[in-house]
Amino acid sequence: MLLTPGPTPVPEFVRKAMADITIHHRTPEFEAIFKETRELLLELFDMDDCVILASSGTGAMEACVTNLCHKKALTINSGKFGERFGKICQAFNIPFTELKHEWNTAISVDEVVTAIKNDSEIDAVFVQICESAGGLRHPVEAIAAAVKKINPNITIVADGITAIGVEKVDTTHIDALITGSQKALMLPPGLSMIGLSKEAVSKVEKKPAGYYLNLLSEIKKQKNNTTAYTAATTLIIGLKEILLNIKENGFENLYNKTALRASATRDALTSIGLEVYPTTPANAMTTIYCEDSNAIRKILKTKYNVNIAGGQDHLKGKIFRINHMGLVEDYEAAWVVNAIELALDELGARTFDGSANKVLSQNLFKGSN
Ligand SMILES: *Cc1c(COP(=O)(O)O)cnc(C)c1O
Repeated sequence: MLLTPGPTPVPEFVRKAMADITIHHRTPEFEAIFKETRELLLELFDMDDCVILASSGTGAMEACVTNLCHKKALTINSGKFGERFGKICQAFNIPFTELKHEWNTAISVDEVVTAIKNDSEIDAVFVQICESAGGLRHPVEAIAAAVKKINPNITIVADGITAIGVEKVDTTHIDALITGSQKALMLPPGLSMIGLSKEAVSKVEKKPAGYYLNLLSEIKKQKNNTTAYTAATTLIIGLKEILLNIKENGFENLYNKTALRASATRDALTSIGLEVYPTTPANAMTTIYCEDSNAIRKILKTKYNVNIAGGQDHLKGKIFRINHMGLVEDYEAAWVVNAIELALDELGARTFDGSANKVLSQNLFKGSN
């Protein structure tokens, strides 16, 4: 049972759709598929424009840094992915200021506002919606609104790789919204997507950058339902299938189910004495701080056939992360909290009494009725 916050399992109907013969990317057949996918994606993002890139999520992060920061960047580092924006700036000699916090602590609107007010060079802000390193939610919409009030020309780039498909993101003040294929969109790794505002498109037009990750080349081509270079046809066919399915069942329905599963899991695990790590948890995953994390993960893997994620860097062995993204079944969510309670019993931390499963079920089934 794969319950890591990315990659997530690919549903069977998507795998089947991607199993067909490879079609050429410069054909009316593929252009029709591309057009439909693009329209669905624009609906998912709720933005003016979008591009699909053949890269992992980091490729889209790089494209946004190089094409949308023309002077100086403000980056928010509450974990590995926020840190990455700074590393990309470094790689391209783009000046940046980094606001850094412990991985359980979100940035505040005030801290961003102060940084912007103190440095008129900053022309773009880069922030995760959900910072997956610790599973925290940054107040991105409020940050975007506050920054635009001070200076509407500052570009807001939001990394929504573990937010798009998890929750409705208010894009009113967001200029670029990044996502990737292997998280909430339930596809294999290999695609990244960027939702763009009209303002972001004009900024890219003023000073496009790069070659393969040049956003202007892609914006121009993709408006005409083709890509600058060979499209990742198979993955795009998969993307069309998953977006059709999500739309058919209702975007809101997916968001509500994910939110309910996340809160039920948090309640279930805190009811057996475990501690939720981030002070502002995102719904993409539940992150638990626990010194026994490695032992728990090992028991889950070997005895109960559940694969959850651990922590990185200074949180290695200190946290574990359970995925809520995608089409996780209720019985899977129940199985994982039950297995964790059993593991705590085996480690002598707490006698098993079925509390976690009971709390989860009460939340899930009473909450959903
Ligand atoms: C997974 C992830 C990324 C990067 O993804 P890759 O596909 O590994 O390049 C970036 N940001 C966040 C928040 C993520 O969860």
